[in-house]
Amino acid sequence: MARIGFIGLGNMGLPMAGNLVKAGHQVLGFDLVNSNVEKAVARKVEKAHGAADVAKDADCVITMLPAGKHVLDVWGGGLLAAAKPGTIFIDCSTIDVASARKAHDMAAKAGMLSLDAPVSGGVGGAEAASLTLMVGGTKEAFAKGQPILSGVGKKVVHCGDPGAGQSAKICNNMMLAITMIGTCEAFNLAEKLGLSHEALFDVASTSSGQSWAVTTYCPVPGPVPTSPANNHYKPGFAAALMQKDLGLSQEAARSAGASTPMGAAASQLYNLFVSQGHGGDDFSGIINMIRGKA
Ligand code: NAD
Repeated sequence: MARIGFIGLGNMGLPMAGNLVKAGHQVLGFDLVNSNVEKAVARKVEKAHGAADVAKDADCVITMLPAGKHVLDVWGGGLLAAAKPGTIFIDCSTIDVASARKAHDMAAKAGMLSLDAPVSGGVGGAEAASLTLMVGGTKEAFAKGQPILSGVGKKVVHCGDPGAGQSAKICNNMMLAITMIGTCEAFNLAEKLGLSHEALFDVASTSSGQSWAVTTYCPVPGPVPTSPANNHYKPGFAAALMQKDLGLSQEAARSAGASTPMGAAASQLYNLFVSQGHGGDDFSGIINMIRGKA
């Protein structure tokens, strides 16, 4: 059992903190929004009175915050200073690679171990403790953090050095966005050609057009009954979150000097889709914009 401080008890952080309690850990939680802290208390998380309070005497501190700025502000704003040397700091937020690396540097200077460990699986995966975690950091930090992270997810992958978890997350999601848009274009073309959804699905799902976007998350109703297309495009994975991850991938591509023309196009298309008021729709709903119907 570890003593864990948890900061950021929102849509994802709340169930993750609750699952760490279920896994047998003592969890102290803090959020700027008091009603979120109260929801966590109902899941047997102990209430902390500030970020520094969370870090004092903790074996591990986890943050689950909106963006890189919040993580750097919280880690640098008294959290690292309040912890005992050797404490492991794990950031599970999805943030830009540069901020993730900066957070690791800050932790190392303060004598702490650290991991970037963004997650995939959404709120459903967070509730079910079935998230996939993509982890960056030293082998020593991973060995210490892995048993704790296995309390919130079913797969914990060590991707490499500091920042590698965030890199893996944005590369994966850029690939997903591009294949989803390609899948939507193909189904739209099939409709115009008078080809049925079932016929295209039967061919593509077993041939070279095959992908997760086709077989698990098919953007038209029918072929995959569990896909959001059968549920009025309720998320699932909201378009606003895909837009955020594509923005991070483009920022990383610029700073690394990588050419990502399809990623840039996908980013523009999701910007447009979200600006038309569809940020809360599932990201596969972009098929309606491609049909000219969003
Ligand atoms: P959220 O907005 O619901 O939660 C963030 C929480 O952080 C809020 O409760 C907010 O009050 C709190 N917070 C902000 N600044 C704070 C501070 N200085 N001190 C303490 N608390 C502070 O967001 P979420 O959906 O839980 O997402 C969290 C992170 O996980 C994001 O980086 C997001 O991109 C990533 N993520 C989300 C999903 C998803 O499906 N929601 C999936 C994968 C990854």
